[in-house]
Parts: sequence; C-alpha cells; structure tokens
Amino acid sequence: MANEPQTPRNSDTYDVIVIGGGPAGYPAAIRAAQNKLSVACIDEWKNRDGTYAFGGTCLNAGCIPSKALLESSELYHRAQGEFATHGIRISEAKLDLAQMQKRRASIVRTMTQGILALFKAAGVTPLTGHGKLLAPGKVEFTASDGKKRTLSAKNVVLASGSTPIELRSAPFKAPEIVDSWGALEFDAVPKRLAVIGAGVIGLELGSVWLRLGAEVVVLEALPEFLAIADQQLAKEALKHFKKQGLDVRLGAKVTGAKVAGGTVEVTYTDAQGEQRLSVDRVVVAIGRRPYTQDLLAPATGVQLDERGFIKVDEHCRTGVEGVWAVGDCVRGPMLAHKGKEEGVMVADLIAGLYGEVNYKVIPSVIYTAPEIAWVGQTEEQVRASGRAYKTGVFPFLASGRARAMEQTAGFAKVLAAQDDDEILGVHIVGPLAGELIAEAVLAMEYSASSEDLQRTIHAHPTLSEAVHEAALAADKRAIDNINR
Ligand code: FAD
Ligand code: NAD
Repeated sequence: MANEPQTPRNSDTYDVIVIGGGPAGYPAAIRAAQNKLSVACIDEWKNRDGTYAFGGTCLNAGCIPSKALLESSELYHRAQGEFATHGIRISEAKLDLAQMQKRRASIVRTMTQGILALFKAAGVTPLTGHGKLLAPGKVEFTASDGKKRTLSAKNVVLASGSTPIELRSAPFKAPEIVDSWGALEFDAVPKRLAVIGAGVIGLELGSVWLRLGAEVVVLEALPEFLAIADQQLAKEALKHFKKQGLDVRLGAKVTGAKVAGGTVEVTYTDAQGEQRLSVDRVVVAIGRRPYTQDLLAPATGVQLDERGFIKVDEHCRTGVEGVWAVGDCVRGPMLAHKGKEEGVMVADLIAGLYGEVNYKVIPSVIYTAPEIAWVGQTEEQVRASGRAYKTGVFPFLASGRARAMEQTAGFAKVLAAQDDDEILGVHIVGPLAGELIAEAVLAMEYSASSEDLQRTIHAHPTLSEAVHEAALAADKRAIDNINR
C-alpha cells in the first residue's frame, strides 16, 4: 500500500528528489517514501534497444547481467568437465549462446521492471529523463520527449553513478574494442579475447568467455595480482585461474590497439620488452570514474574532488544545505551494496531518523570460480598497522560439504587481534565465498572475537564450517584439519 506523503503537493513539488535510479538512488527513494516523504526519482538510463529502464549500471549492465552469464557459463563448463566425475554421462554439452543471452536479457528486464513495481507500491514518482541541480531545492527535469520543467524539493539526492574509464592507447571502437557492457552482449564467442585490467570486471568477464570457449589473455599493468586483496588469497585464486587456462600477464602496459579486418593488434610492454597480441575482441576494464555530466548548474555550490567525485562527508552531505550524494559518484568502493546503504542512510537522515554506514565492514566479492570474498583488513594491512595478530586458515579440501560438491579449491582465513581477539578481517576463496562472507560481516558489525565465532554452532555438513574451523585455527584448536 502506498504511504501517504507528508507534504500535500502539486505535481512539481516534492519533499525529496533523487537524481539517478541505480542501486544507490532507487533505495534512497523507496526509504524516503517509507518515511512518509513525497518523492520523485529521475533516471535517464536507455538500453541499446531504445527502452528506458530504472536500475542503473547494476541492473542493466553490471551486477545482474554479469552474474546471469557467470552462472550459465559455469554450468556449461561443469557439464563438460565435472558431470562425468559425479557419474552423469551426457553425450555432449552444446552451447546455445542466443538462448543464454536471451535468459540474461529476460532477467534484466524482470528486475528493472520490478523497480517500477516497488516504486508504485511505495508511492515514489518515477520520472524518465535527465535531472540537473539548478540550485539547492531546484531541479531541472528534461523528460525523454525533450520537454523541460523545474521541480522543487527540500532535499535533493545526487546518485548519478559511474562510467567506464577509456584507455587512451586502446580507445573504444565497437564491436572490436568494448567496455564491460559490450562484453556482456557479445552474440558470438570470440575465438581470441584480450581483457585489459585484471580487476573485478576483467576476472569475472574473462571467466565467462573462457568457460564458453574463448582463448583469454588478461593484461594487467601492475606487477601484483589483485593488489587490493589479501595476497595469500590472491595467490591461491591466481593458481586456480591459471589452471583453468586464464592467461594472466602481469606488469603489462598496453601501448596500442589497432583494428584491421576484424582483428585487433594489441601492443604492450612488460619486463621482457615489447610484446604483440592478435585477438578478435578486446574488453577494456581498467576501472570506472564518477559520472556527473550536466548534473550540476554552475553555481550550485556542490564541489567535485580532483578525481571528479562529488565531495561529501561521512553522512553523504555535500556541504550545500539539502543536497546529498550517494553511490559510485562519491568516494569509497564502487559497489552496489555500499551505494544502497548510503541511499538508505540519507533517506533516514532527511526524515530526522538515525542513519549510519559502517565503512569498515563493507564486503567485497568477486564471482569467479572459486569465488573470492573478504571483509575488513588484509593481512598486509594488519601487519602494516603494527597490531599483533593471529591467523587461522582452513582449506575446503578438508570440508565434507565441499568434497560432496566437488568444489574443494581454496580456503577460509580469519585474522584476529592478539590482544583482545577482535576479528580484524575474514578472507575466503572457495565455493560460495560471497554467501559465506555474510557471517563474517555480521560478526565484525558486532565487534565479535574469534572466540565468538568458535563458540557459534555451525550446521554440519556445510561450507560455513570452514569459517568456524578457520576461527578455531586462529587459536590452533581446529578439529577437522591436521595442518592446524
Ligand atoms: P549507477 O548504477 O551507475 O546508476 C546511476 C543512474 O543514474 C544511471 O541509471 C544513470 O543513467 C542515471 N543518471 C546519471 N546522471 C543522471 C542525470 N543527470 N539525470 C538522470 N539520470 C541520471 N557491484 C556490486 O556490488 N556487485 C557486483 O556483482 C557488481 N558487478 C558489476 C559488474 C559490472 C560489469 C559493472 C560495470 C559493475 C558492477 N558492479 C557491481 C558495480 C555496481 O554496478 C555499481 O557500484 C553500482 O551500479 C553503483 O550504483 P549507483 O546507483 O551509484 O550508480
Ligand atoms: P578495478 O579497479 O576492479 O580493476 C581495474 C584493474 O585494471 C586494476 O587491476 C588495475 O591495476 C588495472 N589497470 C588500470 N589501468 C590499466 C592499464 N592501463 N592497463 C592494464 N591494466 C590496468 O576496475 P574494474 O574491474 O573496471 O571494475 C570497476 C568497478 O566496478 C570496480 O570498482 C568494482 O568494484 C566494480 N565491480 C564490482 C564487481 C563485484 O562486486 N563483483 C564486479 C564488477 C565490477
């Protein structure tokens, strides 16, 4: 049932206007409506088929379509290589990429249309078109038919998101050189694929096309693999990716990419000197930058930092009365769940309620196989902090459930303080790591000790026992692992 808005309004006046309907903006709008405020959410996302859709990058061209393809491609891969081990003989697993892509598109459509249903139920007014902050409390709305109106609201939430960074030495040139959105919509499996950037997107999309039959080379500029992750975790993950055939080349600086006759000649330098690579498609995944194009009129007072992020404090206040900013367009990790919590916090603060985001316990997940997930500090960060610590590691090889699932790669690792036993970080590489990490997030949210995890009963046989045993191993008390 729709909430009754607090302020009686004509159609152009709201309590809150949210610009951007991605995973930061749409939850802000829904929570504001739950708080009995009148809300409009403006979004201009246009899909390749010309349709407008709420949901932003995450639902249309990010989290959801990538996870749909990761799931399908993993099933295809397992059907080919693993089913026989289970005693299931299939004559041949055949790829129907058109059906796989149809399924991906259908999931996206259902999810994005779902946002409109959520808006309707909450009483949020969706406005399709461009939003621009003219001044505090004033927003210019340009509808998709080009008609302009000036809207008013006591509070404006900027949630304009981010966009892929282009590489000067390999500028986008579809269909050969594409960004992650292009790479999600390939209609044929490229024979040879180069991915520039071994970050989250590079590893996820590289895995998708590798499983579907492409030869995949990943070129990473840095000498370390997954420099942001715990390095024990990163090393374990890289070992498995290499075994799968993902050709990750570190310290590779791309100097050029020339398209000729449907082939791309990529040149790069590494420790051995100049290198060349001939491929059919290139995906550039070297990070994203905040998107604020035509979002702010010249004298709004809202400031951007040197990297183009909208400047905010820890409560997402821009410093201009009644103007807030959340999600990828502000500092912090570019993650849908981080944006969502910021959106909810802001909507609660606007309503005079309590709101807080605990930036120290934001989980990160990379949806490869094995999956990679962590929360809190890496071992390198704890070491650098100077705090004495202990570690417990439990391999999935010793987990009955992982063995039953035929997914024994990886481990769970718990880092805890030596003095008061507080959990400082949990790092998991292995099956369903992204689901397992939720327990660690909750534990850390409540400042749990490793003993708290040790004394928590975990169902048997589950993968979560690996987290339990890793906590026990931090005190050399693991039961199910001889290498404790
Ligand atoms: P966005 O999702 O970018 O939404 C911003 C919206 O605002 C867009 O619809 C845009 O059109 C609209 N907009 C911008 N300016 C205006 C304007 N002036 N007027 C009207 N509308 C405007 N994160 C995860 O947590 N998990 C994942 O698994 C994951 N996978 C990803 C996979 C890929 C391939 C990519 C590219 C990203 C992935 N991400 C993932 C990151 C995630 O998509 C972003 O962190 C998230 O979408 C950010 O949300 P946001 O609302 O801040 O911005
Ligand atoms: P990223 O920051 O994760 O990785 C970019 C990688 O490219 C880094 O390893 C970087 O060292 C490398 N790089 C930078 N410049 C390079 C160059 N010139 N040549 C070669 N390598 C270069 O960025 P991304 O993978 O593009 O993802 C963008 C954002 O989207 C990330 O912030 C990420 O958090 C988010 N995302 C999240 C998920 C998830 O949560 N599962 C999935 C996809 C994307």
